[in-house]
Amino acid sequence: MNKLIGKLKSTGTLSKSEFIELIGCDKKTAEKLRKTAEAIRDEYYGHGIFIRGLIEFSNYCRQDCLYCGIRRSNKDCSRYRLTEDEILSCCKEGYALGFRTFVLQGGEDPYFNDDRMSAIIDMIKSEFPDCALTLSLGEKSYDSYKRFFDAGADRYLLRHETANAAHYARLHPASQTFENRKNCLYDLKKIGYQVGCGFMVGSPYQTAETLADDLLFISELKPQMVGIGPFIHHSETPFRDFPDGTLEQTLLLLSIIRIMLPAVLLPATTALATIHPKGRELGILAGANVVMPNLSPLGVRKNYQLYDNKVCTGDESAQCRLCLEKRMEAIGFHIVTGRGDPRQTPNNTKE
Ligand code: SAM
Repeated sequence: MNKLIGKLKSTGTLSKSEFIELIGCDKKTAEKLRKTAEAIRDEYYGHGIFIRGLIEFSNYCRQDCLYCGIRRSNKDCSRYRLTEDEILSCCKEGYALGFRTFVLQGGEDPYFNDDRMSAIIDMIKSEFPDCALTLSLGEKSYDSYKRFFDAGADRYLLRHETANAAHYARLHPASQTFENRKNCLYDLKKIGYQVGCGFMVGSPYQTAETLADDLLFISELKPQMVGIGPFIHHSETPFRDFPDGTLEQTLLLLSIIRIMLPAVLLPATTALATIHPKGRELGILAGANVVMPNLSPLGVRKNYQLYDNKVCTGDESAQCRLCLEKRMEAIGFHIVTGRGDPRQTPNNTKE
């Protein structure tokens, strides 16, 4: 196993069978991976943690992902969309709290067409020129992505969900394909965004083999960001009876990804905080360097319910910010006020 860790560190990747072996490793090896990942994160980012203010601006969605609580078919979901003014006041509040990256995330809501989206991007970038803007709006055409980029968006998060086409087909209706997801990610990269892919750990039908495909895909795409968190069931989806992903496997994969891509922006996600009271802290200690607290208005938070029992839906933004700061300080880390761009390395520069 030491050999595999050494190879991963020096080359940034492994063969599929080697990844499968590493994914199935024992606790001792997992701890070695964690320590290696920690050392790399410290070398690249020290103990500074980047914060992103997440604005969940719409839970309308035209897609029907089988795992997701805001899927089109969930008739129990009470739908909302924020107005431009509400979005802007989330940013204002976030700016005052030290956020210099805003993440606009939502379901694939046709109301927010290219004109409306571009106007919102322009409004935010004009008001906050020193901030980075990340979009997470799902699958769009090359031209739409280009318009948003030209309007000023800097980053785009689009989890690939699984890089195994057969597995992808079990998580989505036939109209959604891995091929399209992958094309979207390459389009985003080509346009010049800082790109984030990622997947749920422990999603239904996931195996060590599909996870190895995910890692191979990541090593091929070389994204600047990777978002991973445990799958958590939602009671109004077809996957209501599937078990949730585990803390241990999520931490292991965070460490592997940090070793593969030393400069990657890697969040300790809300889903991780949902399955364990110290999930965020443990994520940081496994190699993550980003947290994404919620800036959405309190009144709508409970409705952006991707999975059951999501944490942090009842706290004011200021409270969330303070709570995170304390949690980070308790483990010897501190929150950084700044855009939090990735460090440039030969692996993550634009190709
Ligand atoms: N519509 C955009 C998209 O498709 O990228 C952004 C919103 S989507 C809800 C954000 C992410 O939530 C998905 O990429 C998925 O990985 C995650 N997610 C959805 N349902 C989940 C669940 N039940 N457990 C954990 N994560 C989930």
